[in-house]
Amino acid sequence: MEEKLKVLIIDDEESMRDSCSLILKKDGYLIDTAENGNEGLKKLEEWHPEFVLIDLKMPGIGGLEVLEKVKEFDPEIIPIVITGYATVESAVEAMKRGAYDFLPKPFTPEELRIIIKRGLERRNLIKEAESLRREKKLIEENFITMVTHQLRSPLVTIGQYFEVILGGIVGDVAPKQKEMILKAKDRLEGLLELINDWLDIARLSNGQILEKRKSISINEIVEKIVDFIRPQAEEAGIAVEILPIKGSDQVLGDKESLEQVFSNLINNAIKYNRPNGSISITIEEKNDCIATSIRDTGIGIAKEHLPMIFDQFYQVSRTGQKGKGSGLGLSIAKKIVDLHNGSIDVESKEGVGSTFTVCLPKPEQT
Ligand code: ADP
Repeated sequence: MEEKLKVLIIDDEESMRDSCSLILKKDGYLIDTAENGNEGLKKLEEWHPEFVLIDLKMPGIGGLEVLEKVKEFDPEIIPIVITGYATVESAVEAMKRGAYDFLPKPFTPEELRIIIKRGLERRNLIKEAESLRREKKLIEENFITMVTHQLRSPLVTIGQYFEVILGGIVGDVAPKQKEMILKAKDRLEGLLELINDWLDIARLSNGQILEKRKSISINEIVEKIVDFIRPQAEEAGIAVEILPIKGSDQVLGDKESLEQVFSNLINNAIKYNRPNGSISITIEEKNDCIATSIRDTGIGIAKEHLPMIFDQFYQVSRTGQKGKGSGLGLSIAKKIVDLHNGSIDVESKEGVGSTFTVCLPKPEQT
């Protein structure tokens, strides 16, 4: 054993303290003992052991109380209770209050060893899980910082240089040069869109959304987006209408992230529509949710692509559309809807159009 682990034995019976000490010392543990609860708790604070063996039946403060104090002091300490024959019920009670295991008296050295060994394995597992969690968090944070500063910032600067050149501020730009710079700028914008979407996914976390949820109007969110994209839709000759709401439109949600969901869906309904097509949006109260559907008269999605449509980076390859979009919009929408405990579904027919339906919980549903 590289690291010497400490075991504190709290028992009023001297023979029990001595025999447990002997067995565990032989196995390489550091041992200290206490003959009552008060002394045990004092030693616990001074010595900070990894394991505590607690006799349930002691004069003065009882084992259960000691156990509670041990858990309060440090939940990572592994407490094992020692019980007499007649106290199986209290052993069960002790387990409920956080004891890791119990040892009924009398026990053999081997039984004691097995329980301590199991406790040790559990302690190692907890430590391992904790360090993995910390490592994962660090990687995620580093990843976000790296993407933001090392990738996005220089690209934004490059875009600004393109603007300066295209504006003729640093001299005349020949038509051929202009054409090439515009193409480069277009690709750069695509790359920035991808990075921004990617960052959105990395930043999304369960806690963030659950904390910010409140009762909000889906109609308000949809209207705001439709107002914003209307000029773009009109330019493409696409009519957008929001049909009268059926029932309530109040959901329990985070406004900002739901705006992103509907913005992605409505933008797609324009992007994958046909000239002079249309988009109709319905909001309907169902028994178990508020359902919002975005129906377009666009190019549709072939059956074989539908199962993958919400996967990250999945794009339906169609001629003439290569390089557009990031393939992340729908996966972001799905992740946000899932974090709201909602659902998102699609029905689509190639050449006819698609309908994306988002179901979100009503405020009273949680
Ligand atoms: P992106 O639009 O950036 O490619 P999305 O995740 O938003 O990524 O969409 C994934 C794919 O699903 C798109 O490449 C597109 O082919 C298809 N798609 C999404 N919305 C529609 C729609 N309303 N009509 C037809 N196809 C769609």
